[in-house]
Amino acid sequence: MSPRVVLATRNAHKVVEVRRILSESGLDIDLVGLDAFPDAPDVAETGLTFEENALLKARTIAAATGLAAIADDSGLTVDVLGGMPGIFSARWAGQHGDDAANLRLVLAQIADIADVDRGAAFVCAAAVARPGADEHVVRGELRGRLTREPRGTNGFGYDPIFVPDAETRTTAEMEPHEKDAISHRGVAFRALAQHLGASLP
Ligand code: IMP
Repeated sequence: MSPRVVLATRNAHKVVEVRRILSESGLDIDLVGLDAFPDAPDVAETGLTFEENALLKARTIAAATGLAAIADDSGLTVDVLGGMPGIFSARWAGQHGDDAANLRLVLAQIADIADVDRGAAFVCAAAVARPGADEHVVRGELRGRLTREPRGTNGFGYDPIFVPDAETRTTAEMEPHEKDAISHRGVAFRALAQHLGASLP
């Protein structure tokens, strides 16, 4: 039987996306989201880095469920903003998850910045923790630059203003499988799959 692993999220879309990335990496696990554990605690993201937040979520959910737990934390880092919004990406404009307001605020903040200086990266830290075993965290990055106007309707968050290096389209103009192949989350979870494949029973 495939080992059961819990993904520390209540977001069903994230479960589907991570399940797809891990199974394409050849990892044979039974991945379930937190919907299967209604009593599991909500974990406050009190860490100061993506890695700390991913580890915090994985560790807390492993302790609460007794299972191997994986978690991620991700965001956009803008060079000229000193790496912000960073860990505050989901709530940059004040309200958690207001993607349109977050994107408008970043565009307004860098409105006067020349195209050549609009470098940015999507970053994802992915962690695994098991009760009584070592923890492991990996990081994936996708470098690119920010547009002046939103373009495209795929994806979420800052996708309509992010153009990966060696691309002319925003990640919101790319197909999901094209984004998976190069994305911060794809890179991080493929690396995590390698580690899990070598360490799970
Ligand atoms: P979380 O890791 O699910 O909490 O996501 C943090 C935030 O980072 C999201 O709400 C988005 O604003 C942003 N973000 C993370 N990954 C992506 C992505 O692939 N595209 C666009 N925005 C992203």
